[in-house]
Amino acid sequence: MKTLRFIGAESLISNQEYAKEHIRNLAHNLYPLLLKACFLHEKEELIVLLLENWPQQEFNFGQLLGKTLDYPEDISHRACQRSLSACLKGLKSYVLNSSATYAKRLKVVDLTAIQDVEIQPCQCKKSLGRWARTEMISQLCFEILVEIQRFDFHSSIFNIEIDIFCNLFVTERNYELVVQALLMRCHCPLKIRCVDFRVDNLALRKLFYIIKLVEPNSIHKLEIVHNVRLQDYHLEVLLNNLTFPHLRSLTLPTRTFNVAHYTPEDDAVLSTIGEKLSNMVHLTELSVSFSTLTGRLRKLLRRKGMNGRQLDNYQKLKRTTLKDLVEARGLIASNKT
Ligand SMILES: [Zn+2]
Repeated sequence: MKTLRFIGAESLISNQEYAKEHIRNLAHNLYPLLLKACFLHEKEELIVLLLENWPQQEFNFGQLLGKTLDYPEDISHRACQRSLSACLKGLKSYVLNSSATYAKRLKVVDLTAIQDVEIQPCQCKKSLGRWARTEMISQLCFEILVEIQRFDFHSSIFNIEIDIFCNLFVTERNYELVVQALLMRCHCPLKIRCVDFRVDNLALRKLFYIIKLVEPNSIHKLEIVHNVRLQDYHLEVLLNNLTFPHLRSLTLPTRTFNVAHYTPEDDAVLSTIGEKLSNMVHLTELSVSFSTLTGRLRKLLRRKGMNGRQLDNYQKLKRTTLKDLVEARGLIASNKT
C-alpha cells in the first residue's frame, strides 16, 4: 500500500510545470521518493531534472525502484524506454551542468538490477533492452567527451568520477561504439564498469580485444553465445591470458568441446581449461550446450564441488554431454541457452 508520502509525491509530479519549478528546492531525502513516483508515471522531464541535480553519492536502480517503505511494489523490472532514457539523459546533464544547486557527490550509478522481461508492464510498453542500454551508455560517454572538448568547461569537471555499473551486451553492430567508449574511459567522467558481459554474433578477434577492455576482474557473469566460433583451444588461450577472479557464471557457445576426435594434445588443452576453471573460486554455473565430453568430465570439472563418487557415476555413462548431466542432476550449472 502506498504511504501518504508517496501519494503526496504523486500529487506533486502530477502538475509537471509546478514540480519543475520547485524540484531543485526540495530536501535531498525526497529525491528517491520522487524518482520512484516519476518512474512509475513516466515523467521524463522530471526524471531528467532529478538526475541532473541528484544529491546523493549513489544512484542504485535496484534500491530506488525495488521494494520501498513508501511504495512496496518492486518496479525495477521495468526497463521502461522512456524513463530509462530520461535517467541517462539526466546523468549526462549532471556531469555537464556546472550550475547545479547541490555539490556534486554522485560516485556510483548501479544499473545492474534492471531486469529484461518479455512483456513490458509500463505505460509506454517499450523497453530499453540490454543491447540498447549498452549502446546508449556508450553513446553517452562518447557525447560527454565531445561536449567537454567542444566547450570551455570549468576544470572541476575533471574531478568528477562516476562509476556506472552495468551489464553489457555486445554484438557486431554495436562493437565499434562500445570499444570507443571503453578506450576513452580514463578520460571520461563516467566510467563504465561491466558486471555481466554477453557477447553474441562477434568475430573471435574482436571478442579477444573487447574482453580485455571491459576489465575481466569485474565480470561476474560471462556469456559467449550465438555465432561466436570459440573452440576449446581458443578458450585455453583466453584463460591463459586473462583472469576472472569474480566469475560466477560462464556460458560457452555450442560445441566448444568435442572429445570424439581428441588427440593427446587436445586432452592437454582440456586439462589446462579444467585447471583454470578450478581456480575460479566463485564459479557455480557453467553452461556448455551441445559439447561432447564423454569420459572427460573429470578433467573439466576438477575440484568444482563434485566429489569422486559423483564423478565415478557419471564416468559409467557411455556417451553423455555436460548439458545432459546438468539437466539431469542440476549438478553445478544450469543451461540458459
Ligand atoms: Zn514505459
